[in-house]
Amino acid sequence: MPTNQHMEDYQKQFLEGKDKFENIFKLTSAASKIIASDLTILRVNQALVELLGFDAHEIEGTKILDYACPEDMKHWRKLQKAMWEEHQPFFKLEACLFRKDKSLAWVNVTTVLFQENDSSYGFTVLDDITWRKDYEQSEKRLNIALLYSKTAVWEMNLNTHNVIRSDNHDSLFGYGHPLDSWNLESYIAHLLPEFRTHLENTIRNLSIGDFFDFQGKILIKSGEIKWIHLQGKTEQAGGEETKKLLGTIKDITKEKIAERHKDEFISTVSHELKTPITSIKAQAQILERRFSVMDDKVTTQMLKRIILQIGRLNILIKDLLDAGRLDEQKLFLRKEDFMFNKMVEETVAEIQRTTTHQLIIRQNPVIYCSGDRERTSQVLSNLLTNAIKYSPSKNKVIITTEEKEDQIICSVEDFGIGIAADKQPYIFERFYRASGMQERVISGFGLGLYISSEIIKRLEGTIWLRSTPGKGSVFYFSISKGK
Ligand code: ADP
Repeated sequence: MPTNQHMEDYQKQFLEGKDKFENIFKLTSAASKIIASDLTILRVNQALVELLGFDAHEIEGTKILDYACPEDMKHWRKLQKAMWEEHQPFFKLEACLFRKDKSLAWVNVTTVLFQENDSSYGFTVLDDITWRKDYEQSEKRLNIALLYSKTAVWEMNLNTHNVIRSDNHDSLFGYGHPLDSWNLESYIAHLLPEFRTHLENTIRNLSIGDFFDFQGKILIKSGEIKWIHLQGKTEQAGGEETKKLLGTIKDITKEKIAERHKDEFISTVSHELKTPITSIKAQAQILERRFSVMDDKVTTQMLKRIILQIGRLNILIKDLLDAGRLDEQKLFLRKEDFMFNKMVEETVAEIQRTTTHQLIIRQNPVIYCSGDRERTSQVLSNLLTNAIKYSPSKNKVIITTEEKEDQIICSVEDFGIGIAADKQPYIFERFYRASGMQERVISGFGLGLYISSEIIKRLEGTIWLRSTPGKGSVFYFSISKGK
């Protein structure tokens, strides 16, 4: 307990009929203290006790600068001096204090001078702004992280299409300073014409909880063309009627250039491989026929296996070439009338020749279709090879086809390793391979499903799956009968 003269004076004065002040002082949630002219703390309220974590008797008799962060002391002292010696009526500052547990509390300090029976006292309110400081700090950290990762964050009101955004958002579009406002139109205005409708339609069709993913080319202020990637999720905001889309935007120009180089490399390599492999296959087939005529069963069998492996190699190369073509929008589709079930039978028979798995067909006998027979067969063939590849310890695959209104639905079911739920959303992405133990020993580029899904997309159909790890998978695709 402080025992000096000021303390006694203070107590005398304040205990004599200062009830109102006492009550406010005690009950206010603003941390407050009363100090003497030598800066000794005479009295503290409960809010200050809670703010600093010390008991009242530990604080009373000390000075506030005993708790201050070193960087604030000089300025604080100067303000105190101006008030006590040069008779400034009050001062204000923002400062930080050390709590008893050594953590920091940020406060807005206001000290007012008052006279009581010829003595001067200071009344200080310490407004706790720690939460705001923490928020500012974390916002600062986020902005730095965003700046370095070339990512910005934005939030679009889906009713008004107005956008609020992080500091660096507009710089991705080449602006030195943020523009006054930003909205859907601003994005559209920067996009190259071929991407505009897609963005507009995607945004207009969003419902609550939907994910949003868009990539497009923009023309920035300097005249350069860049790639941007917008991603987000919709949420209900405020009132029932208001939807907002919260997301990130990233400059992916470098990644896109690297991807293009990689595609060009893959495309060149696969082109170069095609010719020698075709020649090896032709020679092997001639040899196989010769040894077969000579009735050399062992060599004929070996050559059959060589031809089979060359066939596999050819499929891999074809996949690589197709993947490149798909990206450059160079995959052309034909439209012809064909019997879907016949195509299924032929495709299955072809694959059956290469496997010991039993491929069982269950289908309606006659389904006509108008579309690209060759590409549809390619999709089925890919699903079949996967079903076989990823069910090494099982020997059955079931293929079904059925008609539903103007759609044909075809499914391929295996009883193999299955796909974990968290990997299923990525399964149709380019070069994606689920990285379980089993997949590592099964060869593949992770392109088959990407190509299949792109073909199905172009045939205006859908491809999807149901899968349980350890039990197996069913891949479905639907295409329009096209009549
Ligand atoms: P690849 O088979 O060449 O790796 P795909 O694009 O055909 O490429 O398949 C992508 C990934 O999907 C595979 O690596 C595998 O992890 C998984 N997958 C595809 N089909 C099946 C299936 N029937 N059962 C289990 N996993 C599968």
